[in-house]
Amino acid sequence: MNDRFNGKVALVTGAASGIGREVAVRLAREGARVACVDLNSDRLAETVEAASTERAIALTCDVSDADAVDATVAAAVAQLGAINILVNSAGVADPNQRRLHEIPLDAWDKVQNVNVRGLFLMKRAVIPHMLDNGGGAIVNLASVASFRATPRAGSYVTSKGAVLTMTRAAAIDYAKDNIRVNAVCPGTINTDILANASEDVMQMLVARAPQGRLGEPEEVASLIAFLVSDEARHINGGSYLIDGGRCAGG
Ligand code: NAD
Repeated sequence: MNDRFNGKVALVTGAASGIGREVAVRLAREGARVACVDLNSDRLAETVEAASTERAIALTCDVSDADAVDATVAAAVAQLGAINILVNSAGVADPNQRRLHEIPLDAWDKVQNVNVRGLFLMKRAVIPHMLDNGGGAIVNLASVASFRATPRAGSYVTSKGAVLTMTRAAAIDYAKDNIRVNAVCPGTINTDILANASEDVMQMLVARAPQGRLGEPEEVASLIAFLVSDEARHINGGSYLIDGGRCAGG
C-alpha cells in the first residue's frame, strides 16, 4: 500500500457517495486520518467500512449550515488533529431541467447553498487550522459545467462557475501561507448524482462521450489524491479537467 498520506489529517465532504466516498477511502488507505462528512449518516457508515481502517470517522453535517459546519470541523480537529487536506465534494444538481426564468427560487437557493455557500463555510472553518499548522491542500469539485453550459441547468452551471472563481480567489489569498487550492472539473461520472436521469438521458451521455463510456469515481479520486499530495506542491489555483476528452472537441 502506498503510504503517502501518513501523518496527514483530511476532511472530505460528500463522503457518503460517489467521488467523495472514493476520495475518503483512497486517502484513508494511503495513510491519512479522514473525517468523512455528509448529510447521509447511513451511507457515511458504509464509507467508513469501505475504508477498512480505524483511521476514518463519520461526521453527519449539512455543509450549507454555518453552525453545523463549525461544529463538525471542531469535532474533526478534536478527534483527529489539525486538518491538512480538505476535499469539497458535497454537491447537488437540480433534478428538473428548466430554463433560468423557470427555476423556482427555492430550487435556485438549494443548489447555490450547497455548492457555493457550503464551499465557503468549509473553507472559513478549516483554513484557520491550516494557517496555524503551516499550510495545507484543498481541492474543490467544479465541473465541465464551469466552462461550458449544458442546456436547462442554469443553477448548477452558475454554481460551478463560482466554484472555479472561488478556487482562484483562495489560491491567491493563501499562496504565501503554503495553502494550495485547486479545482477538479469532471465530465459525466457514474455516480448517484445521475440517479434521476432517464434511460434516454443516460444513453445520450454515453453516446456523446469520446471514449464511449462515463468516467468512474475512482478515476477522479486518483487525480484528487495527486493534487493534495506533496508531489503537487507547485500546483496552485489550477482547474483540471477529467472528462475523457469531451471538452477537446468532437
Ligand atoms: P453524489 O450524489 O454521488 O454525491 C454527493 C454527496 O453530497 C452525497 O453523498 C450527498 O448526500 C452529499 N450532499 C448533498 N448535499 C449535502 C449537504 N447539504 N451537506 C452535506 N452533504 C451533502 O455526487 P458525485 O457525482 O460524487 O458528485 C460529487 C461532486 O462532483 C459534486 O460537487 C458534483 O457537482 C461534482 N461533479 C459530479 C459530476 C458527475 O457527473 N458525477 C460531474 C461534474 C462534477
